[in-house]
Amino acid sequence: MSENNVNIELSYLRKKVGREKSARMQAELLLESKSTELFDINRRLQDANQHLDVIVARRTKALKATTQRVEVTSEELQNTVNRLNLVLDIANAVTWLFNVRNQTMDIAGKSESLLGIEPTKAIPADTVLSRIHENDRKELIEGLSLALKKGEAINLRCRLMSRNGSYRWFLINGELSSLVSKRSLCVIGSCIEMHEQVEREREVWNIANHDTLTGLPNRNYFETQFSALAEESFSSSESFTIALIDINDFTQINDTYGYSMGDGVLRDFADILRGYSEYTHHVARLSGDEYIVIFKTNLAIWSAHELCQKVIDRCVNISIQNGERLGLNLSMGLAVFPKDGRVLDDLMQSVYSAMQDGKQKKHIGSSCVLYNAAIERERFREKDIRSALKAAIKSKSFDLAFQPIMCNQSKYFVGSEALFRWPDMDGKWGVQEVIDVAENSGLILDLGEQVIEMAFAKISHLNEIGVKKWMAINISPLQFQLQDVPQIISKALIKYNVDPAMLVVEVTENIFLENINRVADILNQLSKMGITIAIDDFGSGYSSLRYVQMLPIDKIKIDKAFVDHVGSSIESQGIVKAVIDMSHSMGYKVVAEGVETEGQLEVLKDMGCDYIQGYYYSKPVSFDELIQLDDFSKNTPLVLKTHLGRTL
Ligand code: C2E
Ligand code: CA
Ligand code: CA
Repeated sequence: MSENNVNIELSYLRKKVGREKSARMQAELLLESKSTELFDINRRLQDANQHLDVIVARRTKALKATTQRVEVTSEELQNTVNRLNLVLDIANAVTWLFNVRNQTMDIAGKSESLLGIEPTKAIPADTVLSRIHENDRKELIEGLSLALKKGEAINLRCRLMSRNGSYRWFLINGELSSLVSKRSLCVIGSCIEMHEQVEREREVWNIANHDTLTGLPNRNYFETQFSALAEESFSSSESFTIALIDINDFTQINDTYGYSMGDGVLRDFADILRGYSEYTHHVARLSGDEYIVIFKTNLAIWSAHELCQKVIDRCVNISIQNGERLGLNLSMGLAVFPKDGRVLDDLMQSVYSAMQDGKQKKHIGSSCVLYNAAIERERFREKDIRSALKAAIKSKSFDLAFQPIMCNQSKYFVGSEALFRWPDMDGKWGVQEVIDVAENSGLILDLGEQVIEMAFAKISHLNEIGVKKWMAINISPLQFQLQDVPQIISKALIKYNVDPAMLVVEVTENIFLENINRVADILNQLSKMGITIAIDDFGSGYSSLRYVQMLPIDKIKIDKAFVDHVGSSIESQGIVKAVIDMSHSMGYKVVAEGVETEGQLEVLKDMGCDYIQGYYYSKPVSFDELIQLDDFSKNTPLVLKTHLGRTL
């Protein structure tokens, strides 16, 4: 090879080495830059990792905390469930959930021990409802339906069949809930056993609503029953009849046979009424011998009347202790709701008026009267009298008339009877009628006090002018019952400075219907004060001389009804003679009332009657006329009536 060629080759090699050298340098440079990049990446990666670690640590910590919290919560939840179960246990309670869509029930709590149903889900609702007492089922179904339709809470007492098959009382609470399932409505609730409490409450309620003697409902219960039935009947435009029943002269039964026998009669009578339960809605004892019956709504008034008549017939002859038999006379009144009264007070007034109407015709024994227009007129008349009387009491617009009472032997008048007069009455009403209304309304108390006041003023006047004649005043049984009569009279004696011997207190036989010991006590007080006591209208009512003997009585006034027949009826004459003789043998003086004819006068005189009062001698007169009579009779002891122009 030539030198030239070698040089060329050498130069070529040199260049190649140079090129490779520069290529290697470039590669090294690239490597170095890539390494730096890699290093950077690596460092960033490390940073990211570190950051991630921090996050993970933080998250782990948070997770730990959450886990701890969950653990606590689930423990608390378990505690709550345990507590709830304990509460259900203690409360003897069952929880229930009624799923409306499926018509099923979930039952939990003490269902096994209380109801004999194991805690279960989705039992057919009918199965559960069939265990509710048939009388309570309707109410519960209504409760559920109201909860569903109107969201009303359920709160009612029901009897549920218990494990042993008997019914026990439970309190059922519940309300609508969408808590369990959003798609289906649920009613959720509890069921708490409260059998003993309800039974106790029912016992207390029974005592408060029943009469202990007869076991019948009392007035309280009757009023509740009436209100409920009236409301029901009113909305359905139905009517019903009520009957008020009173046993006539029951006090006499007590007095004759003793209280325990009397109680027996009241019980037997209650049983008789119970015997008609298929026709009656309610039977109650209102007070002593007063009973009330509400007949069933569909029973016609004439059927009610027929049934009452049957009760009357049944009581004609009832057996009492020791095989003895007794006849009960009943006064019955019938009235119809709403025709005769839309509210209890009005209806009671109607039925009472009807009953009274029959009672007044007592001589016919038992009575059963339907409330009618005539009775209604009577009631309005009574109302009129009552309101006019109230006003008159306020304005003290009464007066007194005086009827002289003659001594049998002397023809002189020895005393008088003060009789209430009401000038404004204008002949519209009779004295007896007004007095009866005053008695029934209680106004007799105020009226009686005014009469006492007026009479004392007059006795005091007589005393001042030297007319020594006693004066009799009438005191009503109600005054004896509700007022302190001895105190009222003793105050008047002092106020008017009256000698007690100038006063006669007339009491009617009705006073014997009161507690006889109390009456005796009051009359004894009056007697000790030196006041004369007379029994008025003797023979017209309840008394017998047996009663009179127990009381400090001085005079017996024979009722006009007997005197009327003296001289015409041997029987009446016999009675009057017997009363006069017996009274005398017991030391009482006798007054004959309502003597109108000379014939009567003669017979009575022959019988030895001590005093005569009646139109034959004089009608009741004014006070001035009474004084004139005194002047006159002092001089000419003649028949007075011929000298009296005006009568009161
Ligand atoms: P009473 O106590 O029996 O009084 C006698 C009644 O008989 C009086 O009627 C008198 O006018 C009447 N009378 C007397 N003699 C005869 C007669 O021969 N024939 C007839 N047909 N009647 C005669 P009056 O004044 O209408 O009194 C009626 C009743 O009103 C009284 O009967 C008495 O129960 C009662 N009353 C009168 N005033 C009072 C009073 O101030 N207080 C009380 N609680 N009741 C009174
Ligand atoms: Ca009298
Ligand atoms: Ca009388």
